[in-house]
Amino acid sequence: MAETLARLSIGDLDLEEKHLFVRVDFNVPLKQGRVIDDTRIRAVLPTIELAVERKACIVLASHLGRPEGERRQEFSLRPVADTLSTLLNQEVAFVEDCIGSEVKERVKTLQPGRILLLENLRFHKGETQNDPDFSRQLGGWAEEYVNDAFGTAHRAHASVVGIPQILGRGAAGLLMKKELEYLSRVLLHPRHPVVAILGGAKVSDKIEVIRNLLSFADTILVGGGMTFTFFKAQGKTIGSSIVEVEKVEVARELIRSAESRGVTLKFPVDNLVAQECQPGVKTHVVNAGSIEKNWMGLDIGPCTIEEFQEEISRARTIIWNGPLGVFEIDDFARGTVEIARAVAQSRALSVVGGGASVSALVKAGVQDQISHISSGGGALLQFLAGQTLPGVEILTKRETKE
Ligand code: ADP
Ligand code: MG
Repeated sequence: MAETLARLSIGDLDLEEKHLFVRVDFNVPLKQGRVIDDTRIRAVLPTIELAVERKACIVLASHLGRPEGERRQEFSLRPVADTLSTLLNQEVAFVEDCIGSEVKERVKTLQPGRILLLENLRFHKGETQNDPDFSRQLGGWAEEYVNDAFGTAHRAHASVVGIPQILGRGAAGLLMKKELEYLSRVLLHPRHPVVAILGGAKVSDKIEVIRNLLSFADTILVGGGMTFTFFKAQGKTIGSSIVEVEKVEVARELIRSAESRGVTLKFPVDNLVAQECQPGVKTHVVNAGSIEKNWMGLDIGPCTIEEFQEEISRARTIIWNGPLGVFEIDDFARGTVEIARAVAQSRALSVVGGGASVSALVKAGVQDQISHISSGGGALLQFLAGQTLPGVEILTKRETKE
């Protein structure tokens, strides 16, 4: 775990007439060549606007999807240039590659306050391989480097670590800065009680997260599909609920470890069960651990909701990742929605992350009442697991108090 997350930020840089490389996360969903959700683009507008204001020559770079090192038109960033132009009310130029002679020329002739978007970084294998030669071609011209893509900070790719390595320094964009501020408040200097809520389908994604949370959380509330691997470890009857048999031993070890550290690892006391994971099927509530054959747990039950609400209301710091049931289907969404409301109502500092978890907040209509919604899924989990992120580590440390 990093001892400090304070990093040089874009606000600290003198950008006037400087060639600035900005790594952004424009990995947005496209449909028929159009951006259908511009949330990620809007999230980096403050950074781009600041760079425009400070008269940098701004070059933006991102990946989109997984083209696996090949030029594949369906993963082109060109539609993003259009969306960005509209949002900024300023022309955003686009170049059909991220390296090469044309790019070089366009970068060289870029005027202060103007913006150039490069084509998808992952059209070249050198990006994910962090190939030094590719990094030099990609950003060797840069006079300043800014990373505003927290969502890819856990990847040691050329645009994430290669370029700041060459340049010898790197700064956080405003979105990255905000992520680091909240993560440091939650992970490095949390106010107690710290309550973590963990759900989602599989325990295997979150074992390291739970292990690390045991070192500083007071209470961990477990819900979602991963519950049943713990139940299996406790010898409970789980019917046909989702389970990872090969993780039962780890689950047992985590339960023991929580006990010896005095951390409350709280499981559901009841579950909503059905025979099929489909809308409109017959459901009922059973006590935890007594799920009949051919039935599966698809949500937490009403008593669990109450118990979890109680814990949440006492918390001063809340970390939430993973829905507590199959919330995508309304019949199994109540637990997740109620917990989302409880988190929203609490006076605690709350940080929520993960694709499904953020959709759940939107479904509950409470996304504006959360202290911080993280833009990272995998990156956030790696952070919560107590590991450092290469894309954060490489940014220039700041010698001030956090
Ligand atoms: P996030 O994207 O927020 O990190 P995960 O990817 O870990 O969350 O898990 C999300 C998935 O977990 C959802 O698609 C949800 O349907 C599923 N899930 C939650 N509870 C259950 C359950 N009881 N059985 C099966 N799947 C579940
Ligand atoms: Mg997910």
